[in-house]
Amino acid sequence: MSSLLSLLPGKEFSVSGVVGGVVKDWFSHSSVANYIKQSYMIQMSLLVGIAGGMLAITRKQIDLMVRRFGYNFVVSVSIDSRDDSYNWMLEWLSRHPYSETASNLGLMTIYDADHGEEEADNPRPKLIISPFLGNHFLRYKNHFFWVQRERDLAANDISKGGFYERINFTLLGRNKQVMQDLISDALDMAYKKEEGKLIIFVNKGGQWKRFGIPRKPRSLSSVILESRVKDSVVDDVREFLESRQWYIDMGIPFRRGYLLYGFPGTGKSSFITALAGEMKMKLCIVSLNEKGMNDEQLHRLLNSAPPFSFILLEDIDAAFRKRNKNDTMVTFGGLLNALDGAGAMEGKIVFMTTNRIHLLDRALIRPGRIDMRVPFNLSTSEQITTMFLKFFPDASEEVVATFNSKIPENTISMAELQAYLQKRKKYIIRAIDEWVEKKKRTREA
Ligand code: ADP
Repeated sequence: MSSLLSLLPGKEFSVSGVVGGVVKDWFSHSSVANYIKQSYMIQMSLLVGIAGGMLAITRKQIDLMVRRFGYNFVVSVSIDSRDDSYNWMLEWLSRHPYSETASNLGLMTIYDADHGEEEADNPRPKLIISPFLGNHFLRYKNHFFWVQRERDLAANDISKGGFYERINFTLLGRNKQVMQDLISDALDMAYKKEEGKLIIFVNKGGQWKRFGIPRKPRSLSSVILESRVKDSVVDDVREFLESRQWYIDMGIPFRRGYLLYGFPGTGKSSFITALAGEMKMKLCIVSLNEKGMNDEQLHRLLNSAPPFSFILLEDIDAAFRKRNKNDTMVTFGGLLNALDGAGAMEGKIVFMTTNRIHLLDRALIRPGRIDMRVPFNLSTSEQITTMFLKFFPDASEEVVATFNSKIPENTISMAELQAYLQKRKKYIIRAIDEWVEKKKRTREA
């Protein structure tokens, strides 16, 4: 048999003549080359290896050609299960008539807020049946779509919630508008479900993640505050949100900061939550103490908060208390940078809460970072009356006045009063009934 190497023309070894020359030269002198020339097995392996390599290159090129060709005739969109839109798309698919006829279906449990308020604490999960892993073909607006649902085993991360999946929507045709319509349909469906609900985000691993089920927000009227305090904040936030153009025209960063300070249990967090619901904003709660949180992460988070959101930094005074030496942590300068950051938080509203305003550095609460400071004090008699009436709406003026006279102003927080009334609700009702009965008898006598 003539040497196998004779089947391997110089061109195959070299892209340029220089390299080819060097290789040929090496083959004619090297003892390794001589050994290869004589060994049939090595020659065969080389041939198979090279043939395999060429085949791989050719396959790649064919694949590329097909894709290039394909791009001219299809519109394709790929959605990763780590993205919020993944669930919308699955739900959209589950409502498509195709899901009634398809045989390869998967079941997914979703906890959402399509329940009445009374069920909010014990929500029944919703089951979604949608096309499962594999290929599916369906029609939408008289166009054919090829839907591939696949699992990305390589990116599988059990610690972050299991399998990653991807859905590819390929439209056979070049009508991008139809693809956009499909996506907007899915988005509308998702938004309709969340209309009027409060969506909360928390930071996890340096990213915003939805927290819990979007719920009907607490009403502003259920947070009992002195009306002038409540109105001043509500009006300010409303005016700010309506003044976007003014900020742009004036070249002033469109952002506003509020500091709610005062005793624990006076309603700071409850008020912010209710206000977010009232203003149809999302609520992004930043936990500065989350493991791994550092300046860079905080900066990124505040810059990437979803549009139309309140950013809440709770108990801001506690953020810089001494922690374990090994904890990565946010520095005070890092927080200021994140709050101010170039172009950061345009159109964002930051709320900070603290029980100890005297511990805060002035730099943090200077105007521009904090534009409004709102005190939350212990209960006034107006608040005590309102809370009492919330528990006993039928109580007479006399009963309310008597209760009020027993609790001096500025002695307890609303949280304490609420807990007190909750615990003794039955007892108080009985006491009131007995008291009213006694009064009646005295009058009759
Ligand atoms: P803070 O943030 O000031 O510590 P929270 O808003 O967390 O207080 O209140 C704790 C609990 O007390 C909540 O369940 C809330 O319902 C109740 N509460 C506190 N303040 C008020 C208030 N002003 N009106 C109605 N409920 C209140």
